[in-house]
Amino acid sequence: MTDAPTPNFSRRDDLRNIAIIAHVDHGKTTMVDCMLRESGQFRDSQLADDCVLDSNDLERERGITILAKNIAIPYKGVKINIIDTPGHADFGGEVERVLRMADGCLVLVDAAEGPMPQTRFVLSKALEVGLRPIVVVNKIDRKDARPHEVVDEMFDLFIQLGADDQVADFPYLFASSKAGFATNDPDQPSDTIRPLMDMILEEIPGPKAVTDRPLQMLVTTIDWSSYVGRIAIGHVHAGSVQRGDDVVLMQEGDRQTQGRIASVHTFDKLGRVEVEEAGAGDIVALVGLPDIEIGDTICAPEAPVAMPRIEVDQPTLRMTFTINSSPMAGKDGGKYLTSRHLRERLMRELERNVALQVEPIDGTERFAVSGRGILHLSVLIETMRREFYELSVGKPEVILRKNNGILEEPFETLLVEVPDEHTGPVIELVGARKGQMLDMSSRNAQTLIRFSVPARGLIGLRTRLLNATQGTAIINHRFESYRPMEDDIPGRSTGVLVSMVAGRAVGFALDGLQQRSELHVSPGDPVYEGMIVGENARSGDMDVNPSKEKKLTNMRASGNDRNLMLRPARCLTLEEALEFIEEDELVEVTPKNIRLRKIHLREVDRRHANRAKAKKA
Ligand code: GDP
Repeated sequence: MTDAPTPNFSRRDDLRNIAIIAHVDHGKTTMVDCMLRESGQFRDSQLADDCVLDSNDLERERGITILAKNIAIPYKGVKINIIDTPGHADFGGEVERVLRMADGCLVLVDAAEGPMPQTRFVLSKALEVGLRPIVVVNKIDRKDARPHEVVDEMFDLFIQLGADDQVADFPYLFASSKAGFATNDPDQPSDTIRPLMDMILEEIPGPKAVTDRPLQMLVTTIDWSSYVGRIAIGHVHAGSVQRGDDVVLMQEGDRQTQGRIASVHTFDKLGRVEVEEAGAGDIVALVGLPDIEIGDTICAPEAPVAMPRIEVDQPTLRMTFTINSSPMAGKDGGKYLTSRHLRERLMRELERNVALQVEPIDGTERFAVSGRGILHLSVLIETMRREFYELSVGKPEVILRKNNGILEEPFETLLVEVPDEHTGPVIELVGARKGQMLDMSSRNAQTLIRFSVPARGLIGLRTRLLNATQGTAIINHRFESYRPMEDDIPGRSTGVLVSMVAGRAVGFALDGLQQRSELHVSPGDPVYEGMIVGENARSGDMDVNPSKEKKLTNMRASGNDRNLMLRPARCLTLEEALEFIEEDELVEVTPKNIRLRKIHLREVDRRHANRAKAKKA
């Protein structure tokens, strides 16, 4: 493989490729809907739920974009490809890859809230890859809007991110995507979003297109469909691609693989259309290449030249997935319960979830599933639950590695933004988890603190930070590097209450137990032997009987069940549950419930296991 001389390129005037960057709720979806309407091609039924980009239920609930999606809007004879960007650092690798398909970005920011740390991450990546930004100050119809100040804050942010004068002199507009307009002057609302679309055409350069050379395309995303298998998505750098073309894939380790293009698709409004041919500059989806990987270059056979490979972030966190073996298996509406179901589902996920790794452990019942963080893996678990799978998941652990005989662990950069008065507890909590403060700055009574912290220390940190700051902390982290292992980080200091019996929880028994614990079950909830029904106020586990009925003779003395004052049970979310459990425990996930349990359900088995562990130590 030799480097070819620098090719001549032109800019395509009939195309624009832009990424859209926005903090959750700053109006990205409404803005894109608005532009789609302006392009005039859509019947309202297609936009019925007013939500084009955030099409996944889970994304709506969590308020983050999980999968990058593309749409295309025709405007004045130009096709504007809009590339959605994932909004969370757990999907950091994906952000960087998709940004490479664009030449510019729309940075949408709320006219009252101003820029948020989450957007900071994606924006910094966008500037790194050299995208031309347009800032849109949205929601100027809000009563508390302060549009001009927000423009100034964006300017400060650009400077903080190291933008040069030219980049920091960004074009901007004011908008209300809800009311459907964009304007130069916030005091002069218009009745159309066209000023924004015109600005895109004027300010964002058309994509580079090398037309005098054969096909070269870097694969930045993989999609998958059960009908056609793997779909390679990327930006055509040089030449063109046609259905039936023979190609060479430049793969990892200088491998060259032959392939043939079965079909070529481009983005079109909300979906994709099959086309005969697509040329340099466009973003395309190619079918027919079963072995394609992210980072591969698809080339014409006569000029097989690889483009610089892009790397996918390595997983840093691992969990064990097994079937749901609790007595409740299959009783909570689950349809897929066996290890064969589990394996097939995980293998299917691998086809498109590129930062995920799955390895069977000792036989076929258990799988080590590795990903980029608790959020990355919990999104997968939550999706499986909604597809009627049941499973048990073990304690998340970071992935260690050996380097020259020295054990290393992943470190992450942690960004916490809190109101000034809450900085104390944040520094304390992160410090206790071996976090080192890198810097701290304050603006508008908000403090931004940057730490370097072992990924181990992040497990369980989010919930604690939120509790310690009355829910005000905004937390973001991204992978930094592998470094030598730090000392132990303290885990859960409390024990749990473990049910000794199967049955239903009874108010009388729970009343007795709540004195020394925080309960996870309510009267009437089914319980089983080995299930965790509460958190002990002290260390050490306690075997309890949550089904214990009041003795009849006590009836008069202890009064009626209805008079019991039970505190409401604590319902753990999936992430909280994953962060809560210890090594000898599992999270039981069913379509209807999230329960905690001991791995060994019988007390005698737990005692044996503990003894064996103590002996080993
Ligand atoms: P996304 O999370 O960035 O996709 O944001 P959405 O488009 O879903 O909008 C979040 C919320 O802000 C919704 O309740 C919208 O109705 C509201 N919203 C969006 N644009 C505007 C706007 O221009 N003005 C006002 N006042 N609200 C808006």
